[in-house]
Amino acid sequence: LSERIQKALKNLTGKGKISEEDINSASREIRLALLEADVNFKVVKDFIKKIKQEALGKEVQESLNPGQQVIKIVNDELTKMMGESAVTLNKSKHIPTIIMMVGLQGTGKTTTVGKLASRLMQKEKARPLLIAGDVYRPAAIDQLEQIGDQLNVPVYSERNEKDVAQIVQNGLNQADKNKNDYVIIDTAGRLEIDEPLMAELERVKNVAQPDNILLVVDAMTGQAATDVAKGFDSRLDITGVILTKLDGDTRGGAALSIRAVTGKPIIYTGQGEKLTDLEPFYPDRMASRILGMGDMLTLIEKAQQDYDAKKAEEVAEKMKENTFDFNDFVDQIEQVEKMGPLDQLMKMIPGMANNPQLKNVNFDKKQIVYIKAIISSMTKEERENPELLNPSRRRRIAAGSGRPIVEVNRMIKQFKQARDMMSKITKGNFKGMDNLPGM
Ligand code: GDP
Ligand code: MG
Repeated sequence: LSERIQKALKNLTGKGKISEEDINSASREIRLALLEADVNFKVVKDFIKKIKQEALGKEVQESLNPGQQVIKIVNDELTKMMGESAVTLNKSKHIPTIIMMVGLQGTGKTTTVGKLASRLMQKEKARPLLIAGDVYRPAAIDQLEQIGDQLNVPVYSERNEKDVAQIVQNGLNQADKNKNDYVIIDTAGRLEIDEPLMAELERVKNVAQPDNILLVVDAMTGQAATDVAKGFDSRLDITGVILTKLDGDTRGGAALSIRAVTGKPIIYTGQGEKLTDLEPFYPDRMASRILGMGDMLTLIEKAQQDYDAKKAEEVAEKMKENTFDFNDFVDQIEQVEKMGPLDQLMKMIPGMANNPQLKNVNFDKKQIVYIKAIISSMTKEERENPELLNPSRRRRIAAGSGRPIVEVNRMIKQFKQARDMMSKITKGNFKGMDNLPGM
């Protein structure tokens, strides 16, 4: 999936403006990619429609190029589709909070009962009771009891009773007696949704009146997961979804569709077989994962966030007044550093991308470290008033920063040159700049 989308979006990067044709061809690719990933057809259709509206209606932001802008829109819409922010479990006013786990066979229900208990114990010092509600295979009860042993958590089970609703009722009575604050009910699954299973789960629901009915879905199932989620939801009115096996090579289609089709949030994700492999679901992270563009997205966000217009204005004012000092200089360096690799950032500046001068500029990260070291060896007064920097002060700074005196001298000279030049530019006085290299 991500490979395709990346390819589709790559065609957009480096162009001056987003044209309608650009968007059409990109959305064609994105549509195919999503369908290939087994995302529900209607979900894809709505998604593409939104992207088209967003991309066409919007001006390209100053800090982004058209390709980045489209990536941002696709990412934002993906995130929105999966539900914006992380959702937590429903809590009961009186103990215990009851959680019922449902889902098809092999999706990870029993394992997830253990993972959830483990997480609640760790985060809330919870004292959960687990109820073994999968009574058809003795091995299922054994499995839950083993998990209980591992976590040192009580498991309520009955090996001779076959009425699951009765077992659950008895288990809840025990939880009341022992004042457990959580009860997590494991249930049976089938290979596909069938009437006897649904009827049984409904009976359990009526007895337990759970605060949470969590549908456990295997992330590898794609489009089928949407149908399963719809089936369980229409019968049981689930409260949320746990998407398991995300540590595998998943196509991401399930996550994308489930929320859109059921309106129910994904609350946790399973990231492995161990009892600690459970994490909250973060729609924004999932969107990045689906797009496979984590780094790119981070850079885009940074470019936006760190473009602090107010600060830029302040600096311009200082340049004009020629009061730009070393503190401002460090500020500037740090602002720019936050935004990412320098050479890449320079290319975002209009007119810079094709500037032949840029090819000869060496953006050596170490140089910035050295400059910072030199400045941090200055006193407060020296930073605010560079004119104070006489030879003996410079020698002290060189020793303090561990940089050679020639480097300290060069840095100060360049700083002053740059400051004077900037002052001239901001005052609109370009006289005398002809001698500067590159001008
Ligand atoms: P149930 O039939 O729904 O109760 O499923 P189980 O809890 O017995 O799990 C079925 C299999 O899936 C087991 O081998 C689990 O170890 C495995 N499993 C469950 N969750 C995850 C997960 O998040 N990642 C991986 N890799 N395996 C999982
Ligand atoms: Mg099970």
